[in-house]
Amino acid sequence: MRKEFMTKLTHLGNKMPDSVSPPKVLPIYMSSVFSFDDVETLDAVYAKEAEGYVYSRMSNPVHDSLAEMMAAIEEGQDARVYSSGMAAITMSIMAHVKAGDHIIADRVLYGGSFQFLKDELKKLNIEVTFLDFQKDDIEKYFRSNTTLVYMETISNPLMNVLDIQKYADMAHSHGTKLIVDNTFATPVICQPLKLGADIVVYSATKYICGHSDVIGGVVVSDKNTMEKIHQTASIYGPTMSPFDAWILIRSLRTLELRMKQHSENAMKLATFLEKQPQVRKVYYPGLQSSSTHDIAKETFFNNLYGGMMSIDLAGGEKAAFDLIRSLESIKFLPSLASFSTSMSYPAKTSHRGMPEEEREKAGITMGLLRISVGLESTQDLIEEFEKALKTI
Ligand code: PLP
Repeated sequence: MRKEFMTKLTHLGNKMPDSVSPPKVLPIYMSSVFSFDDVETLDAVYAKEAEGYVYSRMSNPVHDSLAEMMAAIEEGQDARVYSSGMAAITMSIMAHVKAGDHIIADRVLYGGSFQFLKDELKKLNIEVTFLDFQKDDIEKYFRSNTTLVYMETISNPLMNVLDIQKYADMAHSHGTKLIVDNTFATPVICQPLKLGADIVVYSATKYICGHSDVIGGVVVSDKNTMEKIHQTASIYGPTMSPFDAWILIRSLRTLELRMKQHSENAMKLATFLEKQPQVRKVYYPGLQSSSTHDIAKETFFNNLYGGMMSIDLAGGEKAAFDLIRSLESIKFLPSLASFSTSMSYPAKTSHRGMPEEEREKAGITMGLLRISVGLESTQDLIEEFEKALKTI
């Protein structure tokens, strides 16, 4: 499959009506609704006996083209796209839970996912047990009402890589499903479905887009599960704009090229930063010093470890403030995965909503900065860090 990856990205994503001279590139179907010649045709489309669309909250040719590409590169049976990563995550969870259910989740998660699991689900009487998937004996915490296990491939922001196969086997032995957020890895680096995960979710806002101009989300799974998730999503209505879906198709075509470059640049920068006295620790799964390097090496493709890393500064909070101020081209912003390198401060951005005590417990200190390594020359990047680190 690996050698076909670029071919899929190149040729799929063009779901449009038959024509003897079709456009080379899919047009943007900027239509909220579709019309029918008669009631019989409407019935046939609803019954899936004829190909067609009804209303863009449910689906649209551009959504389906993007979903087709995502399902193909993830090697899942089906995919759907939503208005944000949070929509993809919440719809995948909501489709599988009812009041009285229980979920097991890793403690180190994207802040929004953590808040949804902790606060929103509580309102619906759904209990979530947060565990340290690296250290705790997860098996002990399954109950008869456990319905889901939730984790990230590369956990945000400490970049620990978890053994997806182990948690998938555990989830299945208890009759539950495993959801994996693969945002940081992308299918170029890891395919959780192949390791046994049941549902893969993405913030497409990140590497799928790669250009900081779209908010979006994707879910990939088997046909039945996707049907269930999409029924829920069609009611809640987190629909992606067809325009955004079109931009994401354009971005996705270069995903493999970008991920290779992000990974190569990150490896060079991490190796440099690890040697700097101002840096207490570099969290990057490609480094031998990473506590989860071995599992990353085993489960990631082609020695690629992605573009995300975190650094814990010896000087703590003050050093973090100073470094952010001293960097020039490297922007301080609460997102990631774009073409240019950026930095965020998890305690103040992605994990701002997490109580301090829980943050500290998870290792997200006030000296921790997360770096999203872009596509620029690594020499320039290293020089900029070298100069800025001297000021702290
Ligand atoms: N998952 C991860 C790992 C993220 O980093 C983010 C956002 O930063 C999300 C999910 C949420 O995605 P979105 O902002 O597209 O809703």
